[in-house]
Amino acid sequence: MTQLPAAGAEAAALLETLGCPLAPGGRPSPIDGSAMPLVPDAADVDAAIARAAAAFAEWRSVPAPVRGALVRRFGDALREQREPLGRLVAIETGKPLSEGVGEVQEMIDICEFATGLSRQLYGLTIASERPEHHMREMWHPLGPVAIISAFNFPVAVWAWNAAIALVCGDSVIWKPSEKTPVTAHAVHALFDRVAAECGAPAGLSQLVPGGRDTGAVLAADPRIPLVSATGSVPMGRAVAQAVAARLGRSLLELGGNAATIVAPSADLDLAVRAIAFGAAGTTGQRCTTMRRLIVHESVCDALLARLKRAYASLPIGDPRAPGMLVGPLIDGDAVSAMATALERARAEGGTVTGGEHLYGNYVRPALAEMPGQSDLVREETFAPILYVLRYSDFAEAIALQRDVPQGLSSSILTNDLREAEAFLSATGSDCGIANVNMGTSGAEIGGAFGGEKETGGGRESGSDAWKAYMRRQTQNVNFGRSLPLAQGVEFEV
Ligand code: NAD
Repeated sequence: MTQLPAAGAEAAALLETLGCPLAPGGRPSPIDGSAMPLVPDAADVDAAIARAAAAFAEWRSVPAPVRGALVRRFGDALREQREPLGRLVAIETGKPLSEGVGEVQEMIDICEFATGLSRQLYGLTIASERPEHHMREMWHPLGPVAIISAFNFPVAVWAWNAAIALVCGDSVIWKPSEKTPVTAHAVHALFDRVAAECGAPAGLSQLVPGGRDTGAVLAADPRIPLVSATGSVPMGRAVAQAVAARLGRSLLELGGNAATIVAPSADLDLAVRAIAFGAAGTTGQRCTTMRRLIVHESVCDALLARLKRAYASLPIGDPRAPGMLVGPLIDGDAVSAMATALERARAEGGTVTGGEHLYGNYVRPALAEMPGQSDLVREETFAPILYVLRYSDFAEAIALQRDVPQGLSSSILTNDLREAEAFLSATGSDCGIANVNMGTSGAEIGGAFGGEKETGGGRESGSDAWKAYMRRQTQNVNFGRSLPLAQGVEFEV
């Protein structure tokens, strides 16, 4: 195999190519520990908020389709830089190259969606009970939107929010994860360039790199009507409370604990592929990663034998190498958290296959056959551990799927129509995403994305998720000469 350059040096070279170089001295790359370029923390967050507020005052009056044209141009710029940006995502997060490029593609997709949406921010007309009156509902821009993003989708999460918020007439303030500021810097530099070329108001999108303190400043600031926060449940709890204390709005995309039910009629060939990608893909570091496999006892042994073979053959290593499917975990803390969870699993009587710490931040994905759904299984450990539970009747499988605090993604593998439809019914999966004959991860941008319970209840991306980024106004117009009151109330003076 050809020797790959040190990850930090390659990241620096990519930034040069992208026209936004940075000095060395940043965090270690998860790939090989070499220093990534250094993104300095934002010096003045207050001034950044003020700039976003000033830009909003102008941007809200720009016609929505013109706002859409900026987002379209940004999508074109991303398309031109898809490969170098995708490589940078892979280097900074440790995800395989195809997933890094896929993340940039996801940004391009949401730009296309938002561009179309810019001509479809539809209101309503409503029948008025009063004669010679019109009633309607109209959507107006909301204000500066703060976007706090997680490390595992370092740029797509911003794009899901920003592309929609921008066509809705909002300005944005982005606090990227302190673990992945380099890709944020590169994407934001590209956005700034396009915005200037389009003559957009200066400061329309602000990048404020920093740690959780910077996120907390955004959460507390009353100039920001909406805080969209993606990350862990403890982060969401802190942000939600700070935003609620000032009666602002929050849009929360928090932790998951996805389960897949494997029914007796499941296609096991398809199951092995769906499970391997769902549970081991992105080294278990997706919010929709499959963490629980609830398998019917009649197929469990056969499926596990095949899964163990598939897991043993997973290529693990430098995610830039061709054909690599499993890269490193993000850092040493993640490696320790995985080891601790597996120790607990064994102590609870679980049988663990794989899960070894190989070197650096590289681990082998683990299968953990568990005697029951313990507190450990109910927790999200952000690593490639798939807990396997057996069931004998369908109601038990659904009860297990639901019996966790999180509610993001779920799936069922079955060829039984009744089971599939029951899983999708009101008494089936309790998640924001429910899939049939596929895994739990890999969402498309056209649907609304998000989950229930501790996942936070927010919806982003497609469908009507745009409504969270606007304010709704009910408008009543009297075009007659009398003043009839609603509900027949009389008040003659
Ligand atoms: P994290 O919670 O550690 O950090 C996420 C972001 O929140 C970072 O930018 C961080 O600086 C900021 N932050 C942390 N504490 C804060 C506070 N008190 N106030 C304000 N900001 C704060 O999460 P992570 O390790 O980067 O990401 C992994 C987690 O994110 C997992 O739980 C995963 O399931 C979740 N996630 C959810 C989704 C989703 O759409 N539901 C998507 C991606 C990741």
